[in-house]
Amino acid sequence: MNTTITKLTESATSKDVKRPGREEAEAAVRTLIAWAGDDPRRSGLIDTPARVVDAWKELYAGYDRTAEDALARTFEDLETYDDLVLVRDIPVYSHCEHHMMPIVGQAHLAYYPGDSVTGLSKLARLVDTFARRLQSQERLTSEVLDAMDAILKPRGSAVMIEAEHTCMTMRGIRAHGARTTTTRYSGVFANEDGEQNRFVTLVGADPS
Ligand SMILES: [Zn+2]
Repeated sequence: MNTTITKLTESATSKDVKRPGREEAEAAVRTLIAWAGDDPRRSGLIDTPARVVDAWKELYAGYDRTAEDALARTFEDLETYDDLVLVRDIPVYSHCEHHMMPIVGQAHLAYYPGDSVTGLSKLARLVDTFARRLQSQERLTSEVLDAMDAILKPRGSAVMIEAEHTCMTMRGIRAHGARTTTTRYSGVFANEDGEQNRFVTLVGADPS
């Protein structure tokens, strides 16, 4: 196993952190409701801790998945196709690691196939695997690119993520509508300006 892949898998769950049980997690939600100023025993809130814990199972499902699972099946021998593969507008639903507030946006992924290509839905699943963890947009961008490089072994990969951080738009400086763009390139995309320009043009984003 390639060292990058090992690292990606290990980053999913840290072995020396004990996962609390469901009861403990629900009690923590009740504590936060009371801390916000409401009564966790009132009828509208009585089932809320259970619902929050269920929602967290889904929102943080990425800790139980690996990049290899996401890109499980690759197709070799598609030697007839070696040009750019681009998937635009993959939905990104993540949470920032500083405030645990939603990051919502789109990812655009491209690669030049080496010996294998992957199903287009697998790339969306790859983004989702890393997005459903506590993240920074920069790290999410890097993790997706590194996994594409390690698993698909393409001639080059490109990842652009455009997202709104609700911790900036709902609180703090309240920068309504502010979006952050992050990009990372490898292989031919890193080495040739023409390839980066082609990617940015196809994505249709403002390169500035
Ligand atoms: Zn934040």
